[in-house]
Amino acid sequence: MRNFAYQRAGDVHQACALHGDDHRADFIAGGTNLIDMVKLDIMRPDRLVDVNRLPLTELVALDDGRLKVGALVTNTDLAHDERVAADYTVLSEALLSGASTQLRNVATTAGNVMQRTRCPYFRNPARPCNKREPGSGCSALEGINRNHAVLGGSDQCIAVHPSDMCVAMTALGATVSVEGVEGKRDVAFEDYHLRPGDTPEREHDLRDGELITHVTLDAPLEGARSHYLKLRDRASYEFALASCAAVVALDGDTIREARIALGGVGTKPWRSREAEAVLDGQPATEATFTRAAEAALADAKAQHDNAFKIPLAKQAIVRALTTVTTN
Ligand code: SF4
Repeated sequence: MRNFAYQRAGDVHQACALHGDDHRADFIAGGTNLIDMVKLDIMRPDRLVDVNRLPLTELVALDDGRLKVGALVTNTDLAHDERVAADYTVLSEALLSGASTQLRNVATTAGNVMQRTRCPYFRNPARPCNKREPGSGCSALEGINRNHAVLGGSDQCIAVHPSDMCVAMTALGATVSVEGVEGKRDVAFEDYHLRPGDTPEREHDLRDGELITHVTLDAPLEGARSHYLKLRDRASYEFALASCAAVVALDGDTIREARIALGGVGTKPWRSREAEAVLDGQPATEATFTRAAEAALADAKAQHDNAFKIPLAKQAIVRALTTVTTN
């Protein structure tokens, strides 16, 4: 591990000033992802700005029905909050399906949003990787790509986004609020993570020196139920091969509104407007769910090791919708 400078910030303004536009500096909170990367020599910060003492731990209901989640709210506290468990069940389930209790106790909301891919070639400095070193090539395209993306990839990168929490937030609708030396701004959660395209090293809409201060969840969809289904190689402490976050409001047996997001198959948390368009206004039947699943994966592109993800993701959608619409 290389040496780096360590600085502790006392407030958000100071944190942003300490970071400045130095692209070799990083913020550190729970450190569950960042320190891994530093140990592997994948991330090589010159300076770490510790934000753990910033007042960003509030979890508060707003007058307009939304829920403001501070950047430093831990994954455990968010998952077990009564309002989240009741009104944003899909989020609570997604959080509790990820990592381990010990990791969730220190991992933060903003850290989860900023989580980096688990592509093994990205984590191996001996192998070419366009995300780690632009222009060097993508080892996964010809290598082992069983766990890689079937949606949103490019000829530069097919790394899958690893977060469960972000999939749930994508389905629920949320806003990411960031602050930097030039001021504050909000980004729709769905637009925050970027597809790789020709610039796989750019993973999100965050500028150097900007810090996530909070994520605000949209008001719960009236009368909706939600569910997160995660399919993986083993039952715990494992990333998704395919997952589905489903939020559905029914009028009798008819789907009034549905929101679908997928994990484990996309290069970013994957909202499927195609599936939602099939579901809205239709009867809540297996035939409808199957058509929605087909629509969601219509543009999927398999690599040589991961064609199984396409039917798996379709099954995840049908099962999640069946669960959420069945009493
Ligand atoms: Fe790197 Fe992306 Fe290719 Fe993985 S899939 S080796 S992260 S460029």
